[in-house]
Amino acid sequence: MNFAIVGAGFTGAVLAQELAKAGHTISVFESRNHIAGNCYSERDEKTGVMLHKYGPHIFHTDNEAVWNYVNQYTEFMPYINRVKTTSQGRVFSLPINLHTINQYFNKTLSPAEAKAFIQSIADNTIQEPQSFEEQAMKFVGKDLYEAFFKGYTIKQWGVSPTELPASILKRLPVRFNYDDNYFNHKYQGMPKEGYTPIVEALLSHENIQTHLNTSFKAEQAKEFDHVFYTGPIDAWFNYEEGRLGYRTLDFVREDHDGDYQGCAVMNYGDQNVPYTRISEHKHFAPWETHEQTVIFKEYSRECTEDDIPYYPIRLVNEKAMLNVYIEKAKAQTNVSFLGRLGTYRYLDMDVTIAEALDASQKTLEAIAKGKSIPSLFIDIAG
Ligand code: FAD
Ligand code: UDP
Repeated sequence: MNFAIVGAGFTGAVLAQELAKAGHTISVFESRNHIAGNCYSERDEKTGVMLHKYGPHIFHTDNEAVWNYVNQYTEFMPYINRVKTTSQGRVFSLPINLHTINQYFNKTLSPAEAKAFIQSIADNTIQEPQSFEEQAMKFVGKDLYEAFFKGYTIKQWGVSPTELPASILKRLPVRFNYDDNYFNHKYQGMPKEGYTPIVEALLSHENIQTHLNTSFKAEQAKEFDHVFYTGPIDAWFNYEEGRLGYRTLDFVREDHDGDYQGCAVMNYGDQNVPYTRISEHKHFAPWETHEQTVIFKEYSRECTEDDIPYYPIRLVNEKAMLNVYIEKAKAQTNVSFLGRLGTYRYLDMDVTIAEALDASQKTLEAIAKGKSIPSLFIDIAG
């Protein structure tokens, strides 16, 4: 069949590879002047440092099939993300672990003592935390919440943590030992030459043609047997129900000599520091040496029409609007909505890859059975 895939990020590239391997003809359309979507990385001409253009990306997953899949396409280097945070004039270890607790409260607690101590300061009246704030108050209590999460979250999301879902904080572990690995996942690493070569390899197939600088419009769908769309779901419908809320990011670059901050990521918990974090990209490739360094201060703000949508917000009114778009999507017969933007979800790379693999398998099964290709492969209701 003759398929269009809109978007050359991980979702589009995995789908393209899997459907091309099965013998289908694929045209990939990408509005940017490069492939790899938000995972795009490139070596900086001036310093030689590998830069993650749309923010730092660390590969971490529990999904062995996905880990094996990406390792077929590039060499991964061992990398453990260890994040620090500056708060109230001091530097602490993240995610909250025994070191953070002992440092913050100036104590020398053992794991069991720390657990009992945190329980004693946490808000135990909260049974089922609904909001981000309730989740934080229940798990770490007011002091740690205010030092590490409140200001950062207000800067990151632009709303009070009482309005945000608890699920956002559930991404971060709280540990009662000295393990400061930011992630809990079994597999973690960094592609030796960045993410772009993985996507390049995925798109390298004789059945795939990639068109850069080409924005795909819904009217073009009739030229293809089916369209797999990984752009924003509301954009497909010309925003006729309104715009779904996103946060966008501004990355402000600075070049320095030597080592700027001594780690890859330094978060800033205080609300009066205008940026959320500083990333120093050469530390994402500790196997390389560079005399100069490049840092990015990351500022979060509301996403307007002209900005790149980064984080779906999914507040209550967005969920209602999303549900209308979902009904519209379900009524489509020749287009499927996938990926972070197409399903309006906060997804890590491994999940987008797993979902794209699943979608290609379901597509091939539907074709084999003469059935129609689903417009949505999973439930994304608000
Ligand atoms: P995208 O990468 O957004 O690709 C969609 C593509 O579609 C884009 O290139 C866009 O230009 C194109 N497009 C849209 N509309 C059209 C159109 N009409 N015509 C043509 N092209 C179109 N994940 C991790 O696993 N680890 C991390 O450390 C991590 N860090 C992150 C940090 C930040 C700041 C952000 C924002 C995300 C991070 N992620 C991380 C998530 C990761 O970026 C996503 O999981 C991944 O990019 C999703 O891939 P995708 O293909 O679904 O979407
Ligand atoms: N967060 C915070 N303080 C921090 C780090 C994270 O309050 O120092 C909150 C914030 O709301 C953020 C969420 O936890 O959006 C998830 O953090 P993560 O580091 O996973 O964010 P990402 O890297 O996806 O931006």
